[in-house]
Amino acid sequence: MEPWQVLAILYRGGEAAKQEPRLLGTVENELGLRPWLESQGHELIVSDSKEGPHSDLAKHIVDAEVVITTPFHPGYLTRDLIDKAKNLKICITAGVGSDHVDLNAAVERKIQVMEVTGSNVSSVAEHVVMSILLLVRNFVPAHEMIERGDWMVSQIARNAFDLEGKVVGTIGAGRIGYRVLERLMPFNTKEHVYHDYIALSKDAEQAVRARRVEDVKDLVSQCDVVTVNCPLHEGTRNLVNADLLKHFKKGAWLVNTARGAICDKDAVAAALKSGRLSGYAGDVWNVQPAPKDHVWRTMKNPLGGGNGMTPHYSGTTLDAQARYAAGTRTILENYLNGKPQDLANIIVGIGKYETKAYGQR
Ligand code: NAD
Repeated sequence: MEPWQVLAILYRGGEAAKQEPRLLGTVENELGLRPWLESQGHELIVSDSKEGPHSDLAKHIVDAEVVITTPFHPGYLTRDLIDKAKNLKICITAGVGSDHVDLNAAVERKIQVMEVTGSNVSSVAEHVVMSILLLVRNFVPAHEMIERGDWMVSQIARNAFDLEGKVVGTIGAGRIGYRVLERLMPFNTKEHVYHDYIALSKDAEQAVRARRVEDVKDLVSQCDVVTVNCPLHEGTRNLVNADLLKHFKKGAWLVNTARGAICDKDAVAAALKSGRLSGYAGDVWNVQPAPKDHVWRTMKNPLGGGNGMTPHYSGTTLDAQARYAAGTRTILENYLNGKPQDLANIIVGIGKYETKAYGQR
């Protein structure tokens, strides 16, 4: 068998990765793949350099047969780069969400795109529930007040509410969206609604007290809390824009851990500033790492709170990293041995989309 060149674009872990070997998804710890791949005679190139024509991604994509990327530090596989990738057969996303690959170009070039489906969906669902709570309960300004040495309960309580009795809606009711609704059940919310072109079964709806709403404008107009849990594709890019935000209830909370580009950056910042939104939280940014001056880092509601943004880490807990590193290895082993892949992991098969989640075609 010919040796392959495997290129992995991962995030740099620095000191933390040296001290914590379970940070598998880092440049330093290489998803634990090197000893095994090299024992099979293959070459592994690992880097975090991904931007521009002189990056390692642009340089090594030319010869690589396999590219491994991660949504946390997305190596953007544009049509341009895919055109240059003369040997590329398979792109593997170590994690969930493969929008950083030009999927249409991959279909045309018959390059497979796989991800480790399900590997971090509980991790993200927990983060969504946490983010909903921290916005609704006005947690961040309360903590900041304590760190500053101040104590003025009324300043926090004037914008703090209970999640109990609120209507929560999800855009996308797949693995993450559904798990969010499951995890909200003990909170005695008033109602759960969802918008997804794939309907849940009646049993699944009943189990999480969910009602489907056909139109996304209708959905957001009914919700106190909206959470975005669909992939980024042509039909969801910029979906939450100034026009849709007008249909939100005044003072609603919005949580997006799906992809930054699903929400219009400036429209969200303006809605928070004006108080149309009481809060926005999530960990995903359109272009990562986010620039230092990205407005979502510091935006606030009129009372000085409502920002629950973090770097992209909800799906890269140490537990999640163990799962997506193992899943990446399984995909590679199947590829190496010509064994069939788990269908659930295939986003793009040979020349066609295998998933229904990246838009209705
Ligand atoms: P999934 O495929 O199980 O579910 C996605 C659901 O979204 C599907 O039911 C699909 O029909 C629905 N959908 C697609 N387009 C839609 C639209 N226009 N309107 C409404 N619904 C639509 O995927 P999942 O495992 O739940 O993951 C969802 C997304 O979350 C991923 O694609 C990824 O972008 C993001 N994600 C983020 C992190 C993180 O660390 N922040 C980690 C994992 C996944």
